[in-house]
Amino acid sequence: MKKHNFNAGPSILPAEAIENTAKAVRDLNGTGMSILEISHRSKDFQAIMDEAVALFKDNLNIPEEYKVLFLGGGASLQFCMIPFNLLEKKGAYLDTGVWAKKALKEAQLFGEVVNVASSSDKNYSYLPKNYNIPTDADYFHITTNNTIYGTEIREDINCPIPLIADMSSDILSRPVDVSKYSMIYGGAQKNLGPAGVTFVIIKEDILGKVTRKIPTMLDYRTHIKEGSMFNTPPCLPIFTCLETLKWIKKIGGVQKIQEMNQAKGKLLYDEIERNPMFKGTVAKEDRSLMNICFIMEDKYKDLEANFMDYTKELGMVGLKGHRSVGGFRASTYNALPIESVKALVDAMKEFETKYA
Ligand SMILES: *Cc1c(COP(=O)(O)O)cnc(C)c1O
Repeated sequence: MKKHNFNAGPSILPAEAIENTAKAVRDLNGTGMSILEISHRSKDFQAIMDEAVALFKDNLNIPEEYKVLFLGGGASLQFCMIPFNLLEKKGAYLDTGVWAKKALKEAQLFGEVVNVASSSDKNYSYLPKNYNIPTDADYFHITTNNTIYGTEIREDINCPIPLIADMSSDILSRPVDVSKYSMIYGGAQKNLGPAGVTFVIIKEDILGKVTRKIPTMLDYRTHIKEGSMFNTPPCLPIFTCLETLKWIKKIGGVQKIQEMNQAKGKLLYDEIERNPMFKGTVAKEDRSLMNICFIMEDKYKDLEANFMDYTKELGMVGLKGHRSVGGFRASTYNALPIESVKALVDAMKEFETKYA
């Protein structure tokens, strides 16, 4: 039985991206060779890289002057590369969860860091508002989607200094005004491809301003100059990213993806609100369309394990909430079909008729 995959990451990918990757592992476009055994310097792979960059730009409407890179090391390596390359006077960070905090912690190794605002007082169940971005900082770092807690900054904020966004878990889930950011980055394994590749969208003019020496491999300018091929890139994950980007384009682009995500979100959030057994864990206006967190009402708390078992029987996986929130987390990434959300909502209704 095909599972309903609610995993938080690595997570569900479009079926055809997986199918086409499997084909390319056996035989890449009739070349008689596997994608696993060709040179990254070959024209076949160069074409894959070029098309992935071009389609990323096309799908997200990325302006001319931005570079798109595919690197290794995950979003977590970016936490250190960002301050290494960009922090001279100070870095400003918005503390909206575990990942945001990790980025902030890494920056402290390189200089002064301002924690502009934090929602840690309420276990990151809301987004800080009305904060002041220090205009003398080198950049302001935000995490647009807080994967663990289920909050999401869904508008492109106005920022007087270079804005840097970790979009690991909401990239390509909605149209983005890229021109408002100096850099957007993330691990691919939530919404774009398999683990092992990191995307970086960067405006070159923010680079070259720090006085410290930067190791070659950690310098964005190296990867820009070499077209993400300074060393061997993660070839297979990049291939799958390309297939996902093709799928997005084919079904109608990020505009259509956003509509689909809104429909899925509405379906599940409406049920969480309606069903007397469940309740959401975050402020309504800050709710994520990618990771939908909910728990059981106190009265039904001891039925949580039962509900988890019940959803498992129905072929649903990945619904367990992160240990720091508890309860349930349904990750409803781009590739998750609405049928899976319907199945979950039906399970919640069924549970209500049995126990409420
Ligand atoms: C998963 C995740 C990360 C960590 O990504 P890695 O590629 O594993 O380093 C960072 N930020 C956010 C928002 C995430 O969801």
